[in-house]
Amino acid sequence: MKAASSGRLSGYKRIVIKIGSSLLVDRKDGLKAQWLQSLSDDVAALRLAGHDVLIVSSGAIALGRGLLGLKPGVLKLEESQASAAAGQIALSRAYHDTLEKHGIQAGQILLTLSDTEERRRYLNARATIDTLLKLGAVPIINENDTVATSEIRYGDNDRLAARVATMMACDLLILLSDIDGLYSAPPASDPDARFIEQVDAITPEIEAMAGDAGTELSRGGMVTKIEAGRIATAGGTAMVIASGKTLNPVRRIMDGGKATWFAASGNPVTSRKKWIAGQLATNGSLHLDAGAEKALSTGKSLLPAGVRKVTGRFARGDVVSLVNSDGIEIGRGLVAYDSEQATAICGLKSSEIEAVLGFAGRSEMIHRDDLALRPKDGQNETEAE
Ligand code: GLU
Repeated sequence: MKAASSGRLSGYKRIVIKIGSSLLVDRKDGLKAQWLQSLSDDVAALRLAGHDVLIVSSGAIALGRGLLGLKPGVLKLEESQASAAAGQIALSRAYHDTLEKHGIQAGQILLTLSDTEERRRYLNARATIDTLLKLGAVPIINENDTVATSEIRYGDNDRLAARVATMMACDLLILLSDIDGLYSAPPASDPDARFIEQVDAITPEIEAMAGDAGTELSRGGMVTKIEAGRIATAGGTAMVIASGKTLNPVRRIMDGGKATWFAASGNPVTSRKKWIAGQLATNGSLHLDAGAEKALSTGKSLLPAGVRKVTGRFARGDVVSLVNSDGIEIGRGLVAYDSEQATAICGLKSSEIEAVLGFAGRSEMIHRDDLALRPKDGQNETEAE
């Protein structure tokens, strides 16, 4: 019997574990109860060693389609949603039953995209999850697939888990799936593929290594895992990708088993900036001149004078992309004007705003506190304070 030590995970206080559908659900036999029990044992061990644990679990659709007797093959949107509705009950009950054997309560949280993307709702979701953790429960989180349609969904639980990780200021995100980590090339087709044990920064070279390795039961391949890594590490959360195909998959990581580790940004941005940088969808872009790009890199606010062009439709307070004169996104920010006003005042001096708009608005297009710049050349972002 091992003592209450979490080994390799001991430095990470708050941990999110993301579980892919193929680990939990067998196409023929349904829920893999023995596997889930072994995962719950690992969760209980982490709790005993003093960690907060959150679970982001897929599997609702995969379970529900079997329960509803749907045939193999691609599901229509409404069939997936019906499957999610039936499967989520079974999924939650399974977590409840296995965790309860350890005296741990589960709390079901179903999120839609707007719950992490709109600041007011985000703060609300965070307060609920925080309270569950304070009360010693394990939040079991999934996307609310029954109401989400393609325009308003995350679509994959890798990115959902990364958003949850940064929202809850987690120290580590564990992605468990049928993929055991990152390789320099697709291992199935390239005999020279090298296993990558450590990623210090998500460079274009790392991105290029992510072929698409999705399976039929789960949507997320390596591409969404790297995207999740970008969101997590920029928000100060380290990430690890490991296979969940064995029993006690988290214990294996604790014991130093095979995995790819992604280092968190050493200089985590503030929670507001994390939230801005991690937005999945923006409604528009501000195209900057070289002077503005330079000013932003030294911690200044974005003034209307430095904006050459405005594209898209957005409201005041929306997150917009900042694009430099080479067409590269250099960051994101909460814009102080809607798209029509921004178009009217771009290129102007702040003192000219009132004459054009008829009211004295903010002198900045985006205040420096509302800006999140992308790290340059693999370096960590420095705070613009
Ligand atoms: N939310 C989906 C489910 O529970 C899974 C999405 C994914 O596989 O990433 O079935």
